[in-house]
Amino acid sequence: MRRAVCPGSFDPIHNGHLEVIARAAGLFDEVIVAVSTNYTKKYRFTLEERMDMARETLASLRGIIVEPMGEGLLAEYCRQRGATAIVKGLRSSSDFDYELPMATMNRQLTGVETVFLPAEAHYIHLSSTLIKEVAQLGGDVSDFVPKSVLKRILAGESAPDQRRSG
Ligand code: ADP
Repeated sequence: MRRAVCPGSFDPIHNGHLEVIARAAGLFDEVIVAVSTNYTKKYRFTLEERMDMARETLASLRGIIVEPMGEGLLAEYCRQRGATAIVKGLRSSSDFDYELPMATMNRQLTGVETVFLPAEAHYIHLSSTLIKEVAQLGGDVSDFVPKSVLKRILAGESAPDQRRSG
């Protein structure tokens, strides 16, 4: 059983994430979508909302598990979950510059490998932050997020405080 982890905040999950997760599911027997928590970060959606959106939109794909990652080390989380690889989407050389030291560190810590998948051209400009900004200013983000996520964005669901947002 080859298991990989796709980590992220997914605040909210968007089409670029979904595309990379689907490709990861084609490469591994099981993919854990690990929804991260960092109490120094302010999230738009709570951990539960972020996980619900991921579950709703990934329900049709086989071999995907969505779970909270907690606040600890990603490499240790992968070891505990028996995952041999971390899968990351790369949008740009700055993504690569940011990811490379973490990938090297993670491999040195527990031997976990990082697999980089080039982002799909249609989604290369997408980030959760940009989508939230555009939506907040009244822009149409319906091409960038699944319908259920769009509904929540338009409904204005939000994390009222950082601790709850997890
Ligand atoms: P973080 O919380 O780590 O800043 P995100 O939750 O936004 O990141 O994204 C999680 C991961 O999804 C990123 O590390 C990256 O690998 C991948 N990703 C994000 N946006 C895209 C995109 N547009 N295309 C492909 N992969 C992406």
